[in-house]
Parts: sequence; C-alpha cells; structure tokens
Amino acid sequence: MMENSIDLLKKYWRKDLFRPMQKEVIDHYNRGHDTIVLLPTGGGKSLCYQLPAVMKKGATLVICPIISIMQDQIIELGKKGIKAMFFESGYDKNSINRQFDNARYGNYKLIYFSPERLLDKIFLNQLKTLEISGIAIDEAHCVSEWGNDFRPAFKTIKKIKKILPEVPIMALSASATPKVIMDMTSDLGMKDPKVFKSSFERKNIKYQVIFTENKIELIVNTLHDYKESCIIYCKTRIETEKTTIKLKKAGLSCDYFHGGLDKVMKKQKLESWKREQTLIMVATSAFGMGIDKGNVRKVFHLTIPESLESYYQETGRAGRDGKPSSAMLLVKPQNKTNHYNKFIKYLPVKKELKTYFKNLCNYLHIPYGEGQGMYFNLNLKDFCETYQFQEKKILKYFEIFDREGIFEFQHFNKSMTFVKLSCSHNDAIEIIKRNDSGAKLIQFLMRNFEGIFTSEKKINLKQISDIIGVKEGKIDEQLKLLKNQKIIELVSTNTDVKIYWKKPREDDFILNMVSKKQKAYNKLKKVKIKKMLDFTFDLTKCKRNFILSYFGEERKEKCKNCSAESCIGSSETL
Ligand SMILES: [Zn+2]
Repeated sequence: MMENSIDLLKKYWRKDLFRPMQKEVIDHYNRGHDTIVLLPTGGGKSLCYQLPAVMKKGATLVICPIISIMQDQIIELGKKGIKAMFFESGYDKNSINRQFDNARYGNYKLIYFSPERLLDKIFLNQLKTLEISGIAIDEAHCVSEWGNDFRPAFKTIKKIKKILPEVPIMALSASATPKVIMDMTSDLGMKDPKVFKSSFERKNIKYQVIFTENKIELIVNTLHDYKESCIIYCKTRIETEKTTIKLKKAGLSCDYFHGGLDKVMKKQKLESWKREQTLIMVATSAFGMGIDKGNVRKVFHLTIPESLESYYQETGRAGRDGKPSSAMLLVKPQNKTNHYNKFIKYLPVKKELKTYFKNLCNYLHIPYGEGQGMYFNLNLKDFCETYQFQEKKILKYFEIFDREGIFEFQHFNKSMTFVKLSCSHNDAIEIIKRNDSGAKLIQFLMRNFEGIFTSEKKINLKQISDIIGVKEGKIDEQLKLLKNQKIIELVSTNTDVKIYWKKPREDDFILNMVSKKQKAYNKLKKVKIKKMLDFTFDLTKCKRNFILSYFGEERKEKCKNCSAESCIGSSETL
C-alpha cells in the first residue's frame, strides 16, 4: 500500500510539517497531472518531486542542467536511505547498458541526468524499458530563451513526453517571468499544467541603489566595526582579488572566491566564511549555489548584473533567516547610456565567432567534414599565443559552441605538475636538514604524498604555496633546481582544455546556424540589460515593486523601505 505523504516526510526527512505549498503540489502531481512549481531558492522545491518518487512504484527521472546539484542531491538522498543514481555524460554504450541494468533491478527511486543525455538515441531507447513514475525538470527556465541560462538541449525533453505520454511532469524553477512560464508549458510538452507560485517578495530585504564615486570607501565605511556575514559580488575573478586586497588593507575581515580556484581552496574559504572566521566574501556569481547560510545580512553588488533574474537570485542570499537584511547595488554616477554601451561591447559577434572557430579547427587539424565523435586536448595558452587571442574571450566563445551542440568542452584552470622523488630516503632526510626552501618543499612532499618515492604524484603549486608560505614562483624555481640536482623527477603538462567534438566540420553551415542563434540571443540579452538599467536608474519607482512586477506580481502599495523616492524617508537611512 502507498504510504501517506506525511508519514514519509517524518520517516525520511525527519520533519513534522510541510513547508508552504509543498503538500498542494505533491497532491496535484500525484493525481497524475502536469505541474509547474515556482518557489524561491531555499523554498523546498526538490522535496516536491523526491517525496512522490519515494511514494510511487518505479523511478522518477530528474533532469537537471547542473552536475554539482545532481551530485549533492544524490549524496543527500543517500543519507536519508533513498536510492538515487546519476548518468554521467561521455560514457560508452556498454557502460550505459550496465547502468540501465542497475536502474532496472536495483530499486532506484530517482534517476538524475542532464538534458544533453536525451540527444543520445541509445539512452532514449533504454529509458523506455524502465518503469517510470514521474519526470521532474529542475531549473526548468533553461528551456526558454527568456530564462536566464538558456540551454537548447532542454527543448529535447519533449521527446520523453512522446515516449511516456501518461507520466506526469513536474517543472521547477526559482525564478520565472510570465513569458518563461509560457515557454515552459509549450516547450517541455506539458499538458494543461497547474502553476503553483509563491510570491517572490522577500519582505525582510531592503533594496538600495547607491550612486557613489568611491565604492570601496563606501563599503569600508559601512562595514567598519560590522560583525555580521556579508557577500560582495564582483563581475570578474581579478576584481574579487583586487577588492579583497583593498578591503583587507582597510582592516576588514574578508576573503575572495571565484570559479578559478581549485576544490580544496574553495572548501577552505567557504568553511571559514560559514564559521564566521571571515565575515565578508568577495565573489563572482560562482559563489552562491548550494550555500546555505541563513544569516547573511548584506549583499553588495560592485557592478550592475546583466539581468534582474541574476540580481534577484544573488540578493536573495541575504536574510534567509527572515531577519532584516539589505541588498546594495553600488553604481558609478555615469549616465545610463554609458553603462548600456559597456554591456553591449561584450556581446559576442559573428566575425569573432568565425575567426575563433576556423582557427580552432586549424589548430586541432580537423579536416572538412570530419571531427565528429573525436576528443581533443588543447593547451589554451599556446592556442591563444599562436593567434594572439585573449583566453577569457575564447572561453566565452567556446561556451557558445558548447551551448549550440557543436562541441563540449571542459576547462581545467591550471597546468598540471607531477613529481616523483628520485633520491633515496636517506638523501631526502639529509636535504631536509639543510633547512632551506628546498628542504621545506621536500619535507612537505614526503609528508603529504604517500609513495612519492615510487610513483609520480600530481601536485598543486598554489596549494603548496599557501600551506608552506613560499611564493608559487619560488616553488616552481625550487622544483626545477631539485630536478637539475636529480633529486626529483618533474613533469609539467599544459593540456588545460578538453574538447569533445559533436558535429562534422562544416564551417559555413555551423557558423550560420550558430551566429543566427547568437544574434537572437543577443537581442534578448539587450532587453534584459535595459530592464536591469531601468531598475537601477529609475529613481522614482519602488525597487521592490519593480522586481515583483518583473516576475508578474503587481503591487499598489510601496515597500517604504527601498532607496526609491517613493519610499525614502519612510525608513532609517544607511
Ligand atoms: Zn520601495
């Protein structure tokens, strides 16, 4: 007999009560109806499909665009004793078949995969052989060009509905404008879905747009003697590092975080911020996903985000505990057009698409009509030097080709260094006695890498530098010296981009298709940028109401708390 949802909530989630809307969503979906769930981040979305998955016979398919989210969820479900699995991409036919056998006979309740998997016929055929109880689509706004992170592969989700017409779909998102909701309904192949939407209002957040010539000074003045957790969002990695240096100089407790750091560093920085050993995190938008810290009191933006969705999502990390918090957008008092032009300058253009694509093909020696199904290793630095390109720009264009299904790429931030100690144990100990920087290094290697006398170990210069307090450049020098002295063996590889090519090389066809799509995409981006700038520069309209109206909620009364003229004076000042 099917267990009651409240009993299961107690049994697996150890909770006595559902959060707002969860019960209604689950009941509607369990009656076999398509359902759209729009709840803000932290509103308990995943439970809406995980609990029915446990209730029903068979497995629920979960389609999600972000690998780290899937991995985290599988770990969390495992802790609760719920069986879940994840289909990685890039596997051969045999291992896919093996995993499907597992799925069929292993009593898995949830099966996660990214939408790109559906482009694979073998995968799609295998799906038919499973007993499927439901389909959940996470971050469902990605199906829409109007959503924030459009992923064309989402459009293929429709195919599953054709194979499994009777299985109900639940589409979930943390932000959806009326246009995006329409796209979700049509492009995911949903049948008269009922939309469950909670208000996007964050009552405890005070929205402020502050015009200032000196942002750093303003932050220092605001946070001087402030003892609560904050986030400062910057646009670029380098900006997070520079800002951190300035704020540290001014005596603030802060650190930086961005996508270029390796796992260990990220974890270290995040933990220290969570434990409030560091109070301020200066970060790119890479910081935020999966961060569950309730008492973030202030979120600053040093640059205007490119859409209100991003702004809403990032400011939404303030005050998750419901206590008064603020979101401060710091803007240089230039005129609006200047800001707009700055944004436009960075939109991709056809000419560059063409240059990068052709040179990439040539660099990888891909002949016309070939390349499909091949893997390549690329040394980004060498590629950029060969053609005088900027690395950052290249990666942006690679993302476009990745999004449009021409190739998949993975970027590893650092070159890899492998070390083996070729001296004897006794020699190594003699070197350590010298007590110089080479000694420190050898000691570190011996302590931290078991078996380094017998096999090559991958080392991370940045990490070693942080731990033993010697500059990266110095360590590099020292390693080379030790190599010359025949104390170590040293191998450095610079393969930092891996590419999986998915289409035959047909320059005109590919470039026309991609640039046509990009052109449409640019147009939408411009609309979003304009909206964001309207929000920033309109001094009269209530900021909260502006955001709510963007997400389809109209309010008559003002918030009396934001920095707009309509509301100012009714609240205490900064
Ligand atoms: Zn207001």
